Amino acid sequence: FVAMSSEVDKAQSAYKSKSTIFDKIISKEIPADIIFENEKCMAFNDVNPQAPVHFLVIPKKQIPMLDDASEGDQSILGELLLTAKTLAKQRCPDGYRLVINNGKQGCQSVYHLHIHIIGGRQLNWPPG
Ligand code: C5P
Repeated sequence: FVAMSSEVDKAQSAYKSKSTIFDKIISKEIPADIIFENEKCMAFNDVNPQAPVHFLVIPKKQIPMLDDASEGDQSILGELLLTAKTLAKQRCPDGYRLVINNGKQGCQSVYHLHIHIIGGRQLNWPPG
């Protein structure tokens, strides 16, 4: 028996829904530690950080998961990556990692597309 981490647990019961907690962060209905925002995307510190630096970059548009991204999302996907890079470069000058969890086995627990940016310590490879 191997105990599942709570993040894995959460991913087992998570599902796509019309709106998620990230929509409430975008609309400022619930607070988040926002570090960047423009008309298309937002970045905020993860509430359950896995490293000294751990923030998320999300589109304001509702795209539940990477699987759902389409040709028409090219520019927003590029914007997310460039935003992640710009913030990561400032916060983690010695290196960092970007992660997109997709679906149950990918350990996705919030069905609003997000890029994790993790750094501020030596990371290991491979991830679990
Ligand atoms: O990739 P995954 O869907 O598992 O990641 C969701 C992330 O969102 C988790 O790291 C969790 O800590 C974070 N989260 C957050 N603020 C919330 C809810 C979840 O930063 N209000």
